Amino acid sequence: MPLLRLDYFQKKFPELKDLLPKFDSYLETKLSEAREKAAKDFDIVPAQLAKKLQIKEGLALALLMLAEEKGIVESAYQAFCPTTDNFLGEYKELKDVPKHIECPYHDREISHDSDHYFVDVVFHFAPQFFEEKEALAVHS
Ligand SMILES: [Zn+2]
Repeated sequence: MPLLRLDYFQKKFPELKDLLPKFDSYLETKLSEAREKAAKDFDIVPAQLAKKLQIKEGLALALLMLAEEKGIVESAYQAFCPTTDNFLGEYKELKDVPKHIECPYHDREISHDSDHYFVDVVFHFAPQFFEEKEALAVHS
């Protein structure tokens, strides 16, 4: 069962006609994975989508933003340590990312400022969507 209303999007974006069904099945696969793991905060990463569909990362991001508009996914921002690549924290909005983030991955107490840590955008299934689909799966 497609997650996106494919006919609507294919009419609206004819140049994405062939890509949209692939994107949709990618989302479906990820949703099953998320449900199997009962992971509401399951990460959908634009770079991974780009690799899978062999498209540019910017286009992958645009596709995910379409899905966000439809309430399927929600974006979030994740900050990473510049030297260890370790995850530091996740924030709903870019403006919520603190100027300084204390890093647990170094010997001495250290915090990274916004010139040094790096931030990636990721997407999670929208809680409501995740639960609705979960309920459907349980009852069908
Ligand atoms: Zn660090």
